[in-house]
Amino acid sequence: MSAEIVSTGTELLLGQNLNTNARYLSERLASLGISCYFQTTVGDNQDRIEQVLEIARGRADIIITTGGLGPTMDDLTKEVVAELCGRSLQLHEPSLHHIESFFQRRGRSMPENNKKQALIPEGAIIIPNHQGTAPGFIVEEGTKTFILLPGPPNEMEPMFEETVKPYLSMKTKSDPTILYSRLLKIVGRGESVVEDQLRDLLMEQSNPTIALLAKQEGLHIRLTARAKTEAEAKELIKELEAEVVHRLRPYIFGFDQDTLSGVVGQSLLKKGKKLAIAESCTGGLIAHEITNEAGSSAYFLLGVTAYDNSAKKALLGVEEKTLQSHGAVSAETALAMAQGVKKIAGADIAVAVTGIAGPSGGTKEKPVGLVYGAIADDAYSEVKEFRFTGTREIIKERTATAVLNWLRF
Ligand code: ATP
Ligand code: MG
Repeated sequence: MSAEIVSTGTELLLGQNLNTNARYLSERLASLGISCYFQTTVGDNQDRIEQVLEIARGRADIIITTGGLGPTMDDLTKEVVAELCGRSLQLHEPSLHHIESFFQRRGRSMPENNKKQALIPEGAIIIPNHQGTAPGFIVEEGTKTFILLPGPPNEMEPMFEETVKPYLSMKTKSDPTILYSRLLKIVGRGESVVEDQLRDLLMEQSNPTIALLAKQEGLHIRLTARAKTEAEAKELIKELEAEVVHRLRPYIFGFDQDTLSGVVGQSLLKKGKKLAIAESCTGGLIAHEITNEAGSSAYFLLGVTAYDNSAKKALLGVEEKTLQSHGAVSAETALAMAQGVKKIAGADIAVAVTGIAGPSGGTKEKPVGLVYGAIADDAYSEVKEFRFTGTREIIKERTATAVLNWLRF
C-alpha cells in the first residue's frame, strides 16, 4: 500500500512556512509500514490542486492532503476532492453545531462563511476536530482513499492520531509490515569518502536499505528494514550493520539517539577526568555543546571565552612574547591557552582553540578557516592544525565538532 502527501498552501511555496506537516505525516506513515513515494506541495489554486490530486490518485492508494479546509475563498481542497470523486457537498448538521458552539464558547457568533466548513462530501467519514472548527474527511473512491486534514499542525496532529491512524492500521492489517531504522553516526569523514567506502553496499541495497544523511555534526548512515515484526527487522539489519561498522569503525561515534557531546561526557566520566575549555574563535560554542548534556557538571569545570589578546594574557596567562612571536592564531598560543585554563580550573584535561572564522581577517600565511586546537592533560599535550572551509558559522561549528571528536578518545 502506498501513499502520497499533498500539502496545499501558497505560504509553503513562498517559503514563509516550513512544511512540518509533511515531515510529521511521512514519519507516521513509515511507522505504519505504508510506503510514501511522493510528497507534493501546491498553492491555493483550484486548477493546480486538481492537477496534483489527479496525478496523486494515479500513483498512490492513499492521498493525504493538509490545508485548505478553512472558511475562506482560498480554502479549496474539499471542493476539489468532491468534484474529482463526483460527490456533492452536503450540510452536516452535527458539524455545523460543533462550529457554532466553538464560537459560542468564545463569546462570539459564527461568521456566515464558517458555515462552509460544515459542508461535507457525500458519503465521507468525518474526522472530528477538537482543537478548531474544520472537520477532516476520509473519502473512499474504489481502491483509492482521500484523507483530508486541516493545515494548522495543532489541529492536524491530534486528528491524525485519534482517527486517521486507527483507520490506516485497520486498512493495513492484511499487509502487516513495519519499517525499522538504525542510525550509525559518523564524524571526521566526508560524505563522498564514505559513499566510496560503501559503494557496493549502496548499489546492492534492497531490504534493508542504506542511506547517507549529511548533518551538522557529521554524517548519519541510516539502515532501514521492512519486516512483519521489529525483531525480524532488527535481524535483517544486523549483518549489514556489522559490515558498515567493520569498514568505518574509527569514525563511528555512536548510534540512534547518541550525540557527540554525550559520548564525550561518558568517556570523561569513565576516565574520571574533569574538563576545562578555553575558546577564542568558537566564542563558547564548545562549552555550549558540552553543557547541552544533562549531568555535565560531573565532568565540566570551566569554560573561558578569551577573544582579545588581553584576555588571553590576563585570564589564561598566555605570555606576551608568545603572542608577539607566533600570533594569536598559532600552535603555541593554542597550547598556552590549554595549559592556562587547565591550571586555573584545576582540571585533569583541557582543550583550547584559536583560529580565523572569517569572512575577513585572513592572510596568505593564515587564511580564513585556519584553526589551531590543543589538548593538555597531566601526562601529555598535543596540538593540531585544522583547515576548514565555509561561512563563519560553519567554521565555528566544524571547529567545535572536531574538538569534541578529539576529546572522545
Ligand atoms: P484554517 O482554518 O486555519 O484556514 P486550513 O485547513 O484552511 O485551516 P491553511 O489555510 O492551508 O489550513 O493553513 C492554515 C495555517 O496552518 C497556515 O497559515 C500555517 O500556519 C499552517 N500550515 C498549513 N499547512 C502547513 C504545513 N504543511 N506545515 C506546517 N504548517 C502548516
Ligand atoms: Mg485556510
